[in-house]
Amino acid sequence: RTVRECLAEGGPTFSFEFFPPKTIEDDRLLWQTIRELEPLHPSFVSVTYGAGGSTRTRTIEITERIASDTTLLPVAHLTAVNHSVAELRALVGHLAGAGVRNMLALRGDPPGDPMGEWVQHPEGLSYASDLVGLMREHGNFCVGVAAFPYKHPRSMTIEDDTKWFVQKCRAGADYAITQMFFDADDYLRLRDRVAATGCDVPILAGVMPVTNIGVIKRSEQLSGAPFPAKLAARFDAVAHDPKAVRSMGIYESSKLAERLLDEGVPGIHFITFNRSKATREVWANLALGARI
Ligand code: FAD
Repeated sequence: RTVRECLAEGGPTFSFEFFPPKTIEDDRLLWQTIRELEPLHPSFVSVTYGAGGSTRTRTIEITERIASDTTLLPVAHLTAVNHSVAELRALVGHLAGAGVRNMLALRGDPPGDPMGEWVQHPEGLSYASDLVGLMREHGNFCVGVAAFPYKHPRSMTIEDDTKWFVQKCRAGADYAITQMFFDADDYLRLRDRVAATGCDVPILAGVMPVTNIGVIKRSEQLSGAPFPAKLAARFDAVAHDPKAVRSMGIYESSKLAERLLDEGVPGIHFITFNRSKATREVWANLALGARI
């Protein structure tokens, strides 16, 4: 089964993102989360690819174990960072051999400083679109790519960003997933500018429930845009009360996802940080079980 097939059934899809943990305890927590989310029957789950070192092997191991030991459909993220074309081909082949046919093709960021100079591996690739091409050449994979509502931080202009995004889709992407955002209008503007080019690749919305104030700061670094000021002020007003912050986060995420669903979003991709509770609460608020 592929994400493409899930989307063709009309959607909306909903999916969960995990990252490869570094410690045995965090690994145990991840598998507990996976087991807690499995009964929600998501369309797929994805596992991010580390910036370097052992977490990269862990991505492959976890994805393969999801494929063999659970009922879930895994999507493996893969980046071009510090890999030769031969290594990338071997990784894609390895995943395929384990029955993983769904992949997210990313360029990745330079290890250490994400905004540092991008240095291509001497025998590697420059852009995510090259990795889409490599996956396409290799076999009949279902390939997703990243989209950025606030443009990628390295893109000079929104127009450039849209142009390169569409080129990446034309290289053979089946769908895209956005970086997290907190205002539905920002997603809708991205969807409109992509549609205006004639590109109809489905763009799934990346949603991350705010569960504590620290997440807001982190989200700014990840999304490449300031957290919306009005919303930040509402969180600040209850910052002294972690419980109130959390319930506001669940409420706001649910409201955002509700609006996106009303606007006909093809899917919602929850960034879980390897915990299930917040995602399960938003899922329950949306009555997603009844929608699909
Ligand atoms: P690209 O699409 O290659 O774009 C990079 C920059 O180059 C953009 O500014 C783009 O406009 C520009 N560009 C593209 N093509 C050209 C061209 N031909 N000529 C000139 N400029 C061009 N990172 C990880 O390390 N691991 C993960 O698992 C991971 N998962 C992610 C999942 C999602 C849903 C998202 C949104 C991001 C994820 N990232 C991950 C982060 C991502 O790797 C970084 O944001 C990275 O900087 C950009 O990757 P990309 O695939 O969008 O790159």
